[in-house]
Amino acid sequence: MGKTILWVLVILGGLMLARVIAHKKASNAAKAAAPAPDPAPPRASPGGNPEAMVRCSHCGVHLPRSEATMIGGNNWCNNEHARLGVRKLD
Ligand SMILES: [Zn+2]
Repeated sequence: MGKTILWVLVILGGLMLARVIAHKKASNAAKAAAPAPDPAPPRASPGGNPEAMVRCSHCGVHLPRSEATMIGGNNWCNNEHARLGVRKLD
């Protein structure tokens, strides 16, 4: 009984070790086959493209999207203009 469990443990340990070795070999082979993994998609490169500009719906000033406040589907240059709301520009 005790001996059987010991053998099971030995076999399981051997199988796990074999899997680890096989995995290491596979990943090494993958690295050798493809030394340069494909780079990030060109459009998704952060900082490469000029930032999109948006327009304040109140005063019409243009500003980078990251600096704008977007509330209710409109862009605002600050919270005060967001509070004042859309103003007709002419
Ligand atoms: Zn504004």
